[in-house]
Amino acid sequence: MAQIVIKNLKKQFGDFTAVRESSFTIEDGEFFMLLGPSGCGKTTTLRMIAGLELPTSGEIYLDGEEISQKRPRERDIAFVFQMFALYPHMNVRKNISYPLVSQGMPRAKIREKVAEVARILGIEDILDRPVGGLSGGDRQRVALGRAIVREPKAFMMDEPLGALDAEFREQMAEELRALHDRMGATTVYVTHDQLEAMQMGDKIVVMNNAVVEQFGPPQEIYDKPATVFVADFIGSPPMNFLPFSGRLAAGADRVALNGASFAVPVLREGAQGDLLFGVRPEHIRLVDDGGYRAEVLATEYLGTTQIVTLRSHNGDLKARISSDQPVRTGETVGLSFNARTISLFEAATGRALRSELNEGVLGDG
Ligand code: ATP
Repeated sequence: MAQIVIKNLKKQFGDFTAVRESSFTIEDGEFFMLLGPSGCGKTTTLRMIAGLELPTSGEIYLDGEEISQKRPRERDIAFVFQMFALYPHMNVRKNISYPLVSQGMPRAKIREKVAEVARILGIEDILDRPVGGLSGGDRQRVALGRAIVREPKAFMMDEPLGALDAEFREQMAEELRALHDRMGATTVYVTHDQLEAMQMGDKIVVMNNAVVEQFGPPQEIYDKPATVFVADFIGSPPMNFLPFSGRLAAGADRVALNGASFAVPVLREGAQGDLLFGVRPEHIRLVDDGGYRAEVLATEYLGTTQIVTLRSHNGDLKARISSDQPVRTGETVGLSFNARTISLFEAATGRALRSELNEGVLGDG
């Protein structure tokens, strides 16, 4: 069992804050994604969990025991470095055995464990081959074998598929996820790729500028973004934001945009001033008679769907609709939105307004 609790974790390098007061919980057996743009503090967070970096303040608990200041080897957490980092002069068996040999485990026991790992990874037939001549996929499996053979409580992986081309990356992502499902070991995985995070993760932490913006299951993050940053970072094309000014009372369930009135999830809090109306491209319908009009600027054919770029009174937006629907550049169309999926944000803070949509998702702040 390996539950990891992160409490007010902070890391400073001199005056620079790389991670600011992060708090989240990784449950036992979860495949947990740390997602965010380059430089947001993902790797630093992962390295603190593994013990490769000590926190400036805050705590890390592994199964209830505080490990924040312990050395890496005292934590029973495996950090899977760039997966191709193998010992080139050793064969596959020796590469996988290596961590057990350094622990001083008896040889018979090592043989047994290596055989088991090779079976799990489907590489029994290459155990005696030198790693030099192996395909990229097999090298990756050997590197994984070396990490899992010592049966750590948890695995830390930093962009393990980053260097691979798209097709191979997808295949390895599936294998990694399947391996995790067979072993059930807690895994923390750093990526800047939102699709990878959505496809592979049980839960996602979205970080930006050293701050945790939101954490939860992929669908919750997608459907109920807590901030403009999250709504914009997740989804392709990202959510549209239409700026408007107004006064919304708690309990309101409609918003007026340029004279047209739209149903929205019932607001739990009021707001006034500069606001943003957030709608995902796939939640927009193009209709003949809608009161809210927009001009078609461009269309992009993607097979079963097309992306339509539109200009409205409140700004430009993109809609993803069926390719079967005929749309002409230059024509004016009506827009209809799926009320249950609309998010509203304060423009100044980027924070989502509490509504029946995101009740219970957002923090107190
Ligand atoms: P990337 O995907 O680019 O690695 P990341 O989200 O993993 O991004 P980190 O590697 O955690 O980001 O780095 C966060 C910030 O902390 C960066 O601005 C980085 O330059 C800085 N940083 C990381 N390690 C150190 C260090 N040892 N000394 C000084 N600054 C550091």
